[in-house]
Amino acid sequence: MSDQKSIYIHVPFCLKKCVYCDFYSQTHLSLIPDYVNSLQKEIKKRSSSKEKINTIYFGGGTPSLLSIKDIEILLQTIGENFSVLQDVEITLEVNPGTVDFNYLSQLKKVGINRLSIGAQSFNDDKLKFLKRIHTAEQAINAIDDAGKAGFDNISMDLIYGLPFETQNIWLEDLKQALKMAPPHLSCYMLTIEPDTPLGERFKKGLISPLDSMAMSIFFKKTSRFLTSNKYEHYEISNFSKGRQNRSKHNSKYWNMTPYYGFGPAAHSYDGKTRCWNHQSIDTYIKKLASGSLPVEASETLTREQKMIEMIMLRLRTFEGLDVEKFQNLFCVSFKKQFSDILKPVLDESLGCFKGCRFGLTLEGKVRLNSIVEAFAGKIL
Ligand code: SF4
Repeated sequence: MSDQKSIYIHVPFCLKKCVYCDFYSQTHLSLIPDYVNSLQKEIKKRSSSKEKINTIYFGGGTPSLLSIKDIEILLQTIGENFSVLQDVEITLEVNPGTVDFNYLSQLKKVGINRLSIGAQSFNDDKLKFLKRIHTAEQAINAIDDAGKAGFDNISMDLIYGLPFETQNIWLEDLKQALKMAPPHLSCYMLTIEPDTPLGERFKKGLISPLDSMAMSIFFKKTSRFLTSNKYEHYEISNFSKGRQNRSKHNSKYWNMTPYYGFGPAAHSYDGKTRCWNHQSIDTYIKKLASGSLPVEASETLTREQKMIEMIMLRLRTFEGLDVEKFQNLFCVSFKKQFSDILKPVLDESLGCFKGCRFGLTLEGKVRLNSIVEAFAGKIL
């Protein structure tokens, strides 16, 4: 296992909630100074200067609501309390409705070297439906400004599969994205989460989501369109221009590499145990003010949980699962143990072995959940 860890900083603030989002965030921005103060305390309390860090990720919420000074202070605190490697990837998620050229230039100066820009769409009807705080024009300007500010490592987030969306509307989004030639694209299928305004509208019968067949067509067309435009489809929702532009940070999650998560609701994993912080910002701030860690609970993963996680995470990737590694870790023969699951998957061309790796095909990725459930059923 790599001795290089990751740091995730959760920034739980947004200007306004989008209708589809069930991430923990709130709109009381007046709490930001106390939150940043508490984050510094948490980083210091849990740090180890010996620990090597090669990726740092500011996610949210809306990290681009933090001031440049706050980001500088947090990076400085991390630098003083960990051994941050020279070639560290430092990503910050940006909402196009919160940034301008000056802010982006300053981000570059304080050490952010990768941006994940939440464009979501270049279609104003889609953006309005999602209740995003920005227009298509602002999304294009933010991406343009990021390039002018000197960022060459840019990822764009896009969402597809809105109730009224056609293949053509989505294709226009993808074409607009390609005009700006981002090195990395994340394309997410809209999911209607129950505890969101969109979920409420669905319960009341006010919207009819696309069915799974339509969604699978979107998914496969996205993959074919982007791979024919020289993007590598390396994970179920992620595409990069070559291996060098993959998200190093997220790739570590899919490899089950240990990470620190700082901030309210953030999760951490040390290779054996996963723990998570209190979600409430108030509780988070109070715990640290009283000298305690803001951890709400933890669980040590059982052998069975680790097996399922490894299968689930690796089958999300197009590299797939390293069967030899799996066998060495868990002392079971992958092919023998799961022969009855593998047979129909292989027969229906939903998956295949390449050398010592087992992965799903594009059609198999469409059925990822049910395939993982079958593996889990066999393990538990
Ligand atoms: S900006 Fe992002 S985190 Fe905030 S509500 Fe919208 S989708 Fe959720």
